[in-house]
Amino acid sequence: MNGRRLHPTLPHLAGEAPTSLASRLAQLHLTNNASARSFCADMGIDFRRVVDGQPDALTALADLAGADPATLAAEAFRRVPEGHLFRGERLPKSSLLRTSLRFCPACLLDDCSGASKPEVMAYGRTVWSIAAIRTCLCFGVQL
Ligand SMILES: [Zn+2]
Repeated sequence: MNGRRLHPTLPHLAGEAPTSLASRLAQLHLTNNASARSFCADMGIDFRRVVDGQPDALTALADLAGADPATLAAEAFRRVPEGHLFRGERLPKSSLLRTSLRFCPACLLDDCSGASKPEVMAYGRTVWSIAAIRTCLCFGVQL
């Protein structure tokens, strides 16, 4: 922890991808070009390293948000030479969908229900990027 903490901040939510947390923080703090990439650049965090699950970038993001670094890291796909590591599983590159966005509409509706700022409450689940997972674990809806 380097003492830099955002105020206000947002909690890291259950199953949330690190890139989603960065994106929601961007929505909260930026008015123009509110992208996760811009937000991370403004905060001195290399967004590419967040995408790649590199521990230094994840720890910097967690510290900034006031999140638990280990919990955030557990939701990251860490790039390794032969693909990615996720919770001890080695995943070939072809098993991840990272250039298109998949989501569960029921989860997003649930995230936004009653929210005054739905753009910071809807969040991306890490498991939505795993190609073999095609159905929401909570609602049974097709991703
Ligand atoms: Zn769902």
